[in-house]
Amino acid sequence: MHRHGVGQRATCQAAFVKEGGEGTVVLVLFRPSGHVDHRLARRHVVNEVKRGRLARSDVCDAHPELLRAARGVGQASDVVCPICEDATVRYLTYAFGHRMPAQGKLVETEKELARLDRGSAELQGYTVEACPACGWNHLQRSFAIGRRTARSAP
Ligand SMILES: [Zn+2]
Repeated sequence: MHRHGVGQRATCQAAFVKEGGEGTVVLVLFRPSGHVDHRLARRHVVNEVKRGRLARSDVCDAHPELLRAARGVGQASDVVCPICEDATVRYLTYAFGHRMPAQGKLVETEKELARLDRGSAELQGYTVEACPACGWNHLQRSFAIGRRTARSAP
């Protein structure tokens, strides 16, 4: 089974890159602006697990810090985890860019996100879904924050 490499993680900055079977990168990262929906990639990864082409350990590999944040401040949802089906997933949003920490800044509230959005810095936001039960994690969406870029409602 192909494991995702450290180098790829580093170049993509956001640490949530997944690879499908045969080492295919299934997520599109770093669109300069606008809103990218990652549902197709998510479905692909889930299908690969169901077909046995990806191991659960390959997709349920959330960093302990990410899981802690998911349990603590993650936004609850009614979306059942596609892998273990034992718990509902939680959402976490990270902001990357100017004056943000290299590993991204965890945006804990809508209010904080709104404040960043009003700011002059052009940031990139990533929302990740994570399952507190099994460690499943996946990039849910990416979007531009601030500077009134081409951000639009879904
Ligand atoms: Zn789960």
